[in-house]
Amino acid sequence: MSVQIEVQIQKIMPLLCKECNGRRFPIMFPEQRDALWLCEKCKNFVDIKDEFVREWTKEEIEENQQKLENFQKDVTTEKTPEIKRRSGVN
Ligand SMILES: [Zn+2]
Repeated sequence: MSVQIEVQIQKIMPLLCKECNGRRFPIMFPEQRDALWLCEKCKNFVDIKDEFVREWTKEEIEENQQKLENFQKDVTTEKTPEIKRRSGVN
């Protein structure tokens, strides 16, 4: 059952990259009606029909990197998961 559903999804959305077989992620742009699908490995976007749209620009890559760093900083400074885990187990 679950395999059938997955196949159907892949027919209508470019979930996997044709070049590296990696997972693509839908990215919404305000000026575009449909999301573009990004492969982080090949650094390019395809549209809903799996047709090449454009490269992932250097600016976007840096912006993404910045967001990721901020997120990781938040997680390590605010939640301190190591201390929580230790006191919970013992
Ligand atoms: Zn790829």
